[in-house]
Amino acid sequence: SATKAVNINSLLDDIAGFARQKAKYRNVEIRLSLDPNAGEVDSSPAEIQQIILNLVNNAIDAIEHDDGMVQLRSFREHSFVRIDVEDNGQGIPADILPQIFEPFFTTKDAGKGTGLGLSICRDLLSKMGGSISVDSAPGQGCVFHVRLPASSPK
Ligand code: ADP
Ligand code: MG
Repeated sequence: SATKAVNINSLLDDIAGFARQKAKYRNVEIRLSLDPNAGEVDSSPAEIQQIILNLVNNAIDAIEHDDGMVQLRSFREHSFVRIDVEDNGQGIPADILPQIFEPFFTTKDAGKGTGLGLSICRDLLSKMGGSISVDSAPGQGCVFHVRLPASSPK
């Protein structure tokens, strides 16, 4: 889909608005922490939105207590813009970490998960010249790191 210079902070602000509509039914707070110098990426805003909403939906699904929190953060890292999606849900057990980006891998009940979300995120990001990685603290939550090439200055 169409590529343009996308201000990552305004996009994250929009995405937080969508995410809050789902999150409020699950008593999950969506927080934003934006680096004013995060910058722009030359990408499709719809694809970035799809990636981040996938991660937010997974985060909300992983929270089984009443103090749910999902935080979206932006950073600038050299020639990359980094977006973190952090949650305080159940985390990911170390033994399944190597599989979560594989197509059709899911721990959800039949009908609740296709196991395609993270594999689609990874494929979209690799087409964009970006990447995705995860850090997990089982029992405490996890954080997904998304990296996208920053727009070169004009
Ligand atoms: P689905 O959501 O349909 O299961 P995904 O590819 O989006 O498929 O995720 C694969 C699996 O990775 C999930 O079933 C879950 O076990 C794990 N996972 C993904 N995100 C999280 C998260 N934020 N917290 C805990 N587990 C997660
Ligand atoms: Mg999913």
